[in-house]
Order: sequence, then C-alpha cells, then structure tokens
Amino acid sequence: MSVLKILKFGSPVLRTEASSVEKITKKTKQLNADMQDTMKAYEGVGLAAPQVGVLKRIIVFVDEEDYIRTLINPRIVKKEGARTDNEGCLSIPGRTGVVPRAFSVEVEALDLKGRKINLQREGLIARILQHEIDHLDGILFLDHADSVQSIKED
Ligand code: ZN
Repeated sequence: MSVLKILKFGSPVLRTEASSVEKITKKTKQLNADMQDTMKAYEGVGLAAPQVGVLKRIIVFVDEEDYIRTLINPRIVKKEGARTDNEGCLSIPGRTGVVPRAFSVEVEALDLKGRKINLQREGLIARILQHEIDHLDGILFLDHADSVQSIKED
C-alpha cells in the first residue's frame, strides 16, 4: 500500500475520458488500496483514478458512517433536486468554487468483487459522487462553478 502522487490542474490526464474497467484484477485491487491510502493521507472525501494518473473508471469516497467505498464503472442513472454549495478538489489546491449540483443521485456501479450495486444518496455524499464521476469524464468542478475563490494554503 502506498500514497500516490495526485495530479494537479493543468495535467492533460485530468481532461481525458477514462476507460471502463473490463476485468477486476489484482492490479485493480492494489490500485484501490493505494487510492484509499492516498485519499486518507490528503484528508480528502473522494478520489478518482485519473487524479492519480490512471485513466480507469474507478472512484473511492467516504460514504455513510465514514465507510470508504469503491465504485467501479459508476454511472449516474437518476438525479433529483438542486443544491448549490462550496466544493474543492485535491487536484485544484488553493481554490474552492460555488457549484450547483443535483441534491440526490442514484448510482449504478460494480463493487470490487464485480457485483452490481445501486446506491441512492443525497446532500454531501451525492455531491461527492457527482464530483468524482465527473473526473472520469475529464470534467472538473471549475467547469460547473458559479464562482471560484482563492484560498490561502498553509
Ligand atoms: Zn476532484
């Protein structure tokens, strides 16, 4: 297990569409473990594989009750409502944005064992899911933001 380097805004990888995972291998599981370590090390609430330079459709995020969940080939199948809130990104340090998103989402994906799962989440977790799934299509929160602020780094 190891903490991976997070690509920063400006890297073309972050603007590239990721490809579907066809087969869940040992390598997929290793990547998942490393992504979880990396997210924890940077105190993030979500991370998408392209952020660590891997153009595969895999995300990890902090789900309900602080459970860290991995989704493979996640797809939003339903969006409802709207909410605008602040958002940041480990790949865009020093900036936050005010970003309108759906209030609730339904997501279909595979888990690490290749089983189909269906999640319905609202509020912050729905926001994280929309943010991370956007990364798989090369989309960043800056693209949706109503406004972007600079914040001081410590
Ligand atoms: Zn992000």
